[in-house]
Amino acid sequence: MTAALEPTPAPKTKPATSAQPSLADEPAAGFESAHRTPPKKRTWRPASEIAVDLGTANTLVLVKGEGVVLNEPSVAAVEQATGEIMSIGLDAKRMLGRTPEGILAVRPMKDGVIANFEVAEKMLRHFLRTVLDRRILRVKPTVIVCVPSGITEVERRAVRDSAQSAGVKRLLMVAEPMAAAIGIGLPVDEPSGNMVIDIGGGTTNVAVIALSGIVCDASIRTGGDELDQSIVQYMRKNYSLLIGESTAEAVKITIGSAAPLDPEVEMEVKGRDLISGLPKTVRVDSAGIRDAMQEPISQIVNAVRRALEATPPELASDILDHGITLTGGGALIRGIDRLLSEETGLTVRRDPDPLTCVVRGTGKILDDFARFESVLTT
Ligand code: ADP
Ligand code: MG
Repeated sequence: MTAALEPTPAPKTKPATSAQPSLADEPAAGFESAHRTPPKKRTWRPASEIAVDLGTANTLVLVKGEGVVLNEPSVAAVEQATGEIMSIGLDAKRMLGRTPEGILAVRPMKDGVIANFEVAEKMLRHFLRTVLDRRILRVKPTVIVCVPSGITEVERRAVRDSAQSAGVKRLLMVAEPMAAAIGIGLPVDEPSGNMVIDIGGGTTNVAVIALSGIVCDASIRTGGDELDQSIVQYMRKNYSLLIGESTAEAVKITIGSAAPLDPEVEMEVKGRDLISGLPKTVRVDSAGIRDAMQEPISQIVNAVRRALEATPPELASDILDHGITLTGGGALIRGIDRLLSEETGLTVRRDPDPLTCVVRGTGKILDDFARFESVLTT
């Protein structure tokens, strides 16, 4: 038997937000809603130390002593003719798939590399300025930005340039898997090995960390976006229904799974009929969506296997003892922990608040600079 779930109304879907209610519980000052940065609330407190998680799907900014103060999609709406940025963050994400002619919704970090330097720079500068402009007392801040572990020198320079033009005094960088490991409280500076799997929007990072370094790193350009794409294709092939990425993401979050559910669930999906061209609603069930997501999920499983195979034996035995932790928004896929555990024979746990692990880790680095200095680069 299948239990029916409330269908998600397509025009108002804001899936990435619904998954992170816990953010509202953060002791963050000025954090009025999980995904909204209050535009005018000003504070006397200067923001002198700032951490930024510039993710492929979401950007989070934390101010030392305050917690997470900004959490917005890494999306910019760009006017095609002039290259001018119309909006950044949630407003721009709402435009994805709905932009009028001449306006493009761009995700500059989409594949875990900076695909569009100009937009990425403007986006980072915009988010930093949003946080800094709310301050009545201004100081030039020290900023730590989390970057993908395989970042190139050219990309580093783009991050440096945009930070500089946003008025940053000192910029440091930390590899994302390292920040995630610190965020979940792993003893990264000890000789024992720990494995972190971060499933983000554009990428999955599998890293083994020991002695403040990344010992092996298997990264693939498959993450939540790929799952959305496979749902788009499944709906087209099986129901002749055209849906956009945002609707596909909502389906994934509402009924998507990596392992069988008990009970299986279903929901209504709205889109455009391929044949008649008219709007149409169909009912889909979680077993079908699981089938649709199977290919990208198995790519993630394979990346984990490869990382385990490349792990030196001493560290492998540590991982056997400690298990693996899942972080990033993709950790919220139902049953992904169970599937990975069955496939590897290891204990797999998901962080209770996987979307904030990386920025929390960077915040911990700010709190205990002396201990973590060795994981930072310039
Ligand atoms: P990044 O670090 O690359 O910006 P995030 O860690 O913010 O990525 O994760 C974003 C991804 O997580 C998106 O693909 C989003 O659809 C997915 N996601 C968020 N919440 C859920 C959920 N409840 N179930 C499945 N996937 C989710
Ligand atoms: Mg991330």
